[in-house]
Amino acid sequence: MTEIRPQTRARKTALAPDLRRLDDRAARAWTERMAVSPLEDAAYEVESESGATYVVDLVDRSCTCPDHRIRGETCKHMRRVAIEVSTRRAPPPGERRANCAACGVETFVSEADHREASDGSGETASSEAGPALCDTCRFEPGDVVRDREADRREASDRASGETASSETDDRLVVARVTADRADEVEIAATGTTVADYGTNEGYPDDDLVVEAAYLGDVGAENPRLYSFPLSRLERVDDAAVVDAALPCPDALHAGPNA
Ligand SMILES: [Zn+2]
Ligand SMILES: [Zn+2]
Repeated sequence: MTEIRPQTRARKTALAPDLRRLDDRAARAWTERMAVSPLEDAAYEVESESGATYVVDLVDRSCTCPDHRIRGETCKHMRRVAIEVSTRRAPPPGERRANCAACGVETFVSEADHREASDGSGETASSEAGPALCDTCRFEPGDVVRDREADRREASDRASGETASSETDDRLVVARVTADRADEVEIAATGTTVADYGTNEGYPDDDLVVEAAYLGDVGAENPRLYSFPLSRLERVDDAAVVDAALPCPDALHAGPNA
């Protein structure tokens, strides 16, 4: 007899702690109105319900409140910071909040890689680490992505009775995500910016430019790199394993040949 089982069995879990079983400090940490603001490194400022403000340090496991300083307790402020970090309401130590440079959603990025610019503009210094990107938009060198415009090409191919292009034609390997906007990068071959290039119409002018090589070219000696607006590319789940040498990001800028 065949036993039918779910492929991944869900684990039993509660969605909130049982306040009846928590000690007083833990219950207050969950239920009191507090505001947690990250400071430098592992320090967080906690504005308590009473209006008093304390500083919690997660690495030192300390808080400036009397409950911790005098009684040595793991106070409600320390617990609250731990809760906010583990539920991703507050950034973990060493990270800070940033808006994804591509889609704008809020995300956490490494503090060391993305220090605030010293001119106070609030702009992120993004020279070395690249722009702040959320998990969805963050392409790493070597990621296999798909050209969204391939759909349109296939549709028009079908309409004109031509044979559909093979699947690998729309697969690219990311060389790097630049910190440059699509309307700032010029495609040498055409004299237009990436944003103004014909098939990039409809993608945001301020999209970051991604340099990528076609998967079929990657084995070649000098795979040609093409510049795309970031949102024209999408991650693919069936990413082929690419062990060929990555295209060199310093190669010539060129326009997508779509
Ligand atoms: Zn405290
Ligand atoms: Zn994003």
